[in-house]
Amino acid sequence: MAAEKQEVYSNVESMSQKLFEINDFIHDNPETGNQEFKAVELLTKTLEDNGFTVERGVAGLKTAFVATYVHKGGGPTIGFLAEYDALDKLGHGCGHSIIGTAGIGAGIALSKSLGDTPATIIVYGTPAEETTSGKLPMVAAGLFDKLDVALMTHPGDRTTVGSKSLALNLVDFVFEGKASHAAASPEKGISALDGVMMLFNGVEYLREHVRSDTRIHGIVTDGGAAANIVPERAAARFYVRGADRNYLNGVVERVYNVARGAALATGTKVTIKEIKAYDNKVLVESLNNVLLENAKAVGATQILPPPESTGSTDFGSVTFRVPGAELGIAFVPVGTPGHSKDFVAAGTTETGHAALITATKTLAGTGYDLITKPELLKQVKADFKALSASK
Ligand SMILES: [Zn+2]
Repeated sequence: MAAEKQEVYSNVESMSQKLFEINDFIHDNPETGNQEFKAVELLTKTLEDNGFTVERGVAGLKTAFVATYVHKGGGPTIGFLAEYDALDKLGHGCGHSIIGTAGIGAGIALSKSLGDTPATIIVYGTPAEETTSGKLPMVAAGLFDKLDVALMTHPGDRTTVGSKSLALNLVDFVFEGKASHAAASPEKGISALDGVMMLFNGVEYLREHVRSDTRIHGIVTDGGAAANIVPERAAARFYVRGADRNYLNGVVERVYNVARGAALATGTKVTIKEIKAYDNKVLVESLNNVLLENAKAVGATQILPPPESTGSTDFGSVTFRVPGAELGIAFVPVGTPGHSKDFVAAGTTETGHAALITATKTLAGTGYDLITKPELLKQVKADFKALSASK
């Protein structure tokens, strides 16, 4: 192994106490989406102390940042993504203190050992993954477009690469009818709730005729004011998900048509409001392979294939634009569910700290390989392009 790569690892080791402190501080001061002021202050200060130029409040988000380190001008541009939001009431039940700390740790460790090789390292502070999905406006603002590769880690029950994530549309349907006394003059009313109920029924019929990776799940968010009033307003919220953005777009349109049909059938008016949309993760095999090799090289444990079933992440929308990969890093026993008290508890343990160091070294080592092996980067970009062409 090149001496410089060994040096990248030693950089991580000599920072390890500092990284533990940062992780534990973020963990013990949990902040929910778009309120992560303390975390951002600590992370950006650490980056500045290490020679990064930090731009705060990017893409109109108070707690988003872009930290850039340009080494000898030009060269490949490698991005590390940091998350740091906690879950309301639970705290750091999704391991994001580790994601944020590993993201900056990898960027700093790598920036110090580039030798004569020109490269640009960018650390992205991406807020509110659990709520409003900070990466979406950052994607829309084109902040990731300059990257050759985007890398991040996520703690969980195994060390893994290639975890799928579903494209998603989160949609509100608001039906409007006409209120009336439900017993004395029902014929004068138009029930908005009827529209919602026909929407749910129509979705059940649609379910049979979509690809099996499709997930459509909704709740009634407004069912009317009282049982003796014909509801003049009713609303439902749906998640529509699928493995492939292009296919999902068609399913979403069919769900919208069900809603429009429900409105026509019931004489109500429907308003469709799309709250947010993620793309599915694009899995670049050559990039995932190099990430896994790097994890093995630094002694990662609990290495397993990714789980079959999956949710969605705003990182998917990043990997739709530029080649990207996520390292799942083990910090709880296999089978431990996410968003749990077990996740919270593991965040600052010896195992949590070990996972932080392993993830930081893996990300930095992968960045090092991509910068110093032009053939590898070329392969990754060609694979991504081929996948994009088939999208
Ligand atoms: Zn998470």
